[in-house]
Amino acid sequence: MNFKTYDVIIAGSGVAGLYAALSLEPRFRILMLSKRELMTCNSAMAQGGVAAVMDGNDSFERHISDTLTAGGNENNRENLRVLVEQGPRDIEKLLELGVNFDRKPDGSLSLALEGGHSANRVAHYRDSTGEQIVTALLDYVRVLPNVTLLENAHLLNLTKQDENFLAHVHRNSEHEYYAAKTVILATGGIGRVYEFTTNGVTSTGDGIYFAHKMGAKIRDLSYIQFHPTAFADRKSRECFLISEVVRGEGAVLLNHKKERFMQNYEPERLELAPRDVVSKCILAEQEKTGSDEFFLDVSHADGDFIKERFPLIYSRIKEFGFDITKEPVPIYPCQHYLMGGIEVDDYGQTSIEGLYAAGECSHTGVHGNNRLASNSLLEALVFSRRVAEKINATIEINSEETLEISNFPKPSGQAPKPEGLRREIRGIMQNAYFVTPDYEAVKAGLARINEIITTLETDGFELTPEFVETKALATIALLILKELT
Ligand SMILES: Cc1cc2nc3c(=O)[nH]c(=O)nc-3n(C[C@H](O)[C@H](O)[C@H](O)COP(=O)(O)OP(=O)(O)OC[C@H]3O[C@@H](n4cnc5c(N)ncnc54)[C@H](O)[C@@H]3O)c2cc1C
Repeated sequence: MNFKTYDVIIAGSGVAGLYAALSLEPRFRILMLSKRELMTCNSAMAQGGVAAVMDGNDSFERHISDTLTAGGNENNRENLRVLVEQGPRDIEKLLELGVNFDRKPDGSLSLALEGGHSANRVAHYRDSTGEQIVTALLDYVRVLPNVTLLENAHLLNLTKQDENFLAHVHRNSEHEYYAAKTVILATGGIGRVYEFTTNGVTSTGDGIYFAHKMGAKIRDLSYIQFHPTAFADRKSRECFLISEVVRGEGAVLLNHKKERFMQNYEPERLELAPRDVVSKCILAEQEKTGSDEFFLDVSHADGDFIKERFPLIYSRIKEFGFDITKEPVPIYPCQHYLMGGIEVDDYGQTSIEGLYAAGECSHTGVHGNNRLASNSLLEALVFSRRVAEKINATIEINSEETLEISNFPKPSGQAPKPEGLRREIRGIMQNAYFVTPDYEAVKAGLARINEIITTLETDGFELTPEFVETKALATIALLILKELT
């Protein structure tokens, strides 16, 4: 079989993939894959912003200290220092690329305060920072002559033969085959393994699944962040995030009696305690009152300011029939972010030569056991740039246009994927590990996930994007539950 060759294949076109592509030298021929439309990624959904030390009222030591506190001191301190000290230069680069962060009347950056931060340090564009950043990066990468950007191009399989990575891609109902000696996995998170998640449809853990299958080290997959305030009308599976910047602007949490309760659990930090803490307080209050009804209330604030500052949140919640400027809106915690992932070093190198990972699918250790708000876009920027720097310094270009692999097995299965497995996996995860683990359910869930994987490994199923995502989700569930036993 004939494989078209590139110097670097990047799987994923979120912030990590795009920033890696534009940081690589133009001498490289780069193939970039996006399994859906280019804007369909978690990066484009980010609301709050990017945390970095951008003015004299703040310091690297404070940013590091806040991140360690949120991360339970389990953070990789060397990588954390790299993140914090190098972050500002990547924010400057975004400004150069035309990212339009909000500014104060004097022209300086308007930096927001978020939960767990001891200083205003979150650069943002209203409440749609991610869309603003991805648009600017895409505008730049799209016209780079050395980058082939394929959308709706689903990586179905990634293997390594000798020094080459072989990528099997599904695009326009066709199977396509590409090879490169260097691959960057930037495939994002795993949220879709849960019933309730803020993550978009692409977050099925594909990159982690491929890396695991090839034998790469995977770490801390059970370090999952549950965001306390997703809009929850209990009618839809899609959980729209209400950024904690809204709490930064004074929003309070109410129980089913519309009474504040955070003072009983976190008398000092109140609603601005780190996310995991607030999520746990909500579940503790549920246990105490017997009701899972909770609300976020910012109706006491200036309505015009809220509409101006959070236009996306205001209009999305309005679509569900609630006016956040006038009434408390229903919320509940849901899965939001993965701190663990493919183990990488300080330059994004995995345990497999030639294989790099960046962004949410990677584990640099900067977040410890719980990510500080707005540190993930920063991590995606800093470490994807460092991946590119490493590749720039060490990789030669490949003069071959194609690669012939004689023994590559063509997909032959015809049977459709069994129905209902994804739903079942989500149900297992929701029961076994939501905010805190239920160890009985973890044990039972693990046994069932093993059976599901055995079923999926039976030859004969048609190799489709849907099938691969199901296998990826089952593998992610397995790795999370195994870690908990
Ligand atoms: C609602 C929401 C709000 C958030 N707000 C913030 C915030 O304010 N600040 C902050 O720092 N973080 C925030 N986060 C987290 C942050 O957005 C993510 O951690 C970050 O954007 C991840 O970037 P990424 O490039 O790693 O992945 P993504 O942006 O998710 O991109 C993944 C890419 O991989 C591609 N892909 C996946 N599998 C395949 C495959 N098999 N084949 C081909 N392509 C594939 C996808 O198509 C996509 O292009 C938020 C997350 C959510 C969900």
